[in-house]
Amino acid sequence: MIVVASSNGRIGIAAATQILRQGGTAVDAVEAGIRLVEANPEDHTVGFNGYPNILGEVELDASMMNGRTLESGAVGALTGYVHAITVARQVMEKLPHVLLVGDGASRFAAEMGHPPQPEMLLPETRTVWADRLRPDMNDADIEAIASRTDLARWVELATDPERAKGTVNFIAQDKAGNICTGVSTSGWAWKYPGRLGDSPIIGAGNYADNRYGAAACTGMGEMAIRASTAHSLVFYMKMGLNLADACERAMVDLRDLDGRFISVMNLVAIDKDGNHAGYSSVDGRSYIYQTPTCPSAKNCPARWCPFRRAGAKQDNNEWEKLTNGRW
Ligand code: ASP
Repeated sequence: MIVVASSNGRIGIAAATQILRQGGTAVDAVEAGIRLVEANPEDHTVGFNGYPNILGEVELDASMMNGRTLESGAVGALTGYVHAITVARQVMEKLPHVLLVGDGASRFAAEMGHPPQPEMLLPETRTVWADRLRPDMNDADIEAIASRTDLARWVELATDPERAKGTVNFIAQDKAGNICTGVSTSGWAWKYPGRLGDSPIIGAGNYADNRYGAAACTGMGEMAIRASTAHSLVFYMKMGLNLADACERAMVDLRDLDGRFISVMNLVAIDKDGNHAGYSSVDGRSYIYQTPTCPSAKNCPARWCPFRRAGAKQDNNEWEKLTNGRW
C-alpha cells in the first residue's frame, strides 16, 4: 500500500494514507487527498483560488483513472465549482462518458449536488491576474477584456511558461493491489479560454493499469499531450521495461519534441509492485510518498533529465551521462 504525490499534495497525503490504513480503496484515497489540495487557497495551481485564464475566470481540469477496470472520468474547463476531482470521479462512475467540458461539466456538477462557488478567486489573486495585464492595459481595458477579439495576442504576452504552472498528482495502491491515479489543476495561468492541458486527457497527464503501474504528470501539458506521456510510460512497463527505464524512455520522448513550445515536465510513477519514482526536466525537484506504516510523508528527489531549450542544441553528453547512453 502506498500513496505517491507531487510535492504540493502534502496537505492531502495523510488523509489519503489514512483511508488505505483503514482498508479503504485507492479511488477513495486519491479523491480525499486531492480534495484537500483543491480547497487550499494558498495553492494557486489547483482548485479554489487557482490562477485564472486570460479573462480572469478560473477553469479547472481534472481526471481520475481506476487501474483495476481502466475506467476513467475527466472534466475540462470546469467553472464555478471547487472539487473538479469529485466531478471527474462522478463522470467515471455515473455517466457512460469519459470527458465533460465547459458548460456541460458545470451542469453535471450541479446535477450531482456540488455547491456552486461563483467567486473562485480571492481579491488578492484577482489583483495578481490584473497586474499581469498592466501596464499594457488600463483599468477600463481590463474591465472590458471579455469583449476583445484579439485575445490570442494577449495570451502570448501574459502567459509565462516558466512560472505560471502547477498541478497536483496522486497515485494510490490499496490493500487489494488496486491502483488509482488522480490529477487536478487550474491549468496554465492566463491561458486562452477553453484551453485544456494534459490533466483531463487520459493517456497524457494520467494513466493507471493495475497489471503494470501508473503515471501522472505536471508541467507543460501541451508536451504531455503531444507525447502521450502517462500512457507511454505505463506501456513501456507493459513491454517489459522496469520502472526507471520506462520513466527515462518517457522523458526521452518529451526531450525529442521540437518546436516553439518546449518547457518543463515532471512525472510521478509507480510499478505494479508499488515501487515509485519521480522524474523532472528541472534540477532539484522532488515528490512525496507515504505508506500506512510511515507517520508522515517522505520527500524523494526526482531524477533530473533536462530538455533542450526551444531552438537550442541538445546537450547529448549530458543525456548520455544520465542514461548510460541507452537511448
Ligand atoms: N500540466 C498542467 C497543464 O498544462 C499545468 C502544470 O502542471 O504546470 O495544464
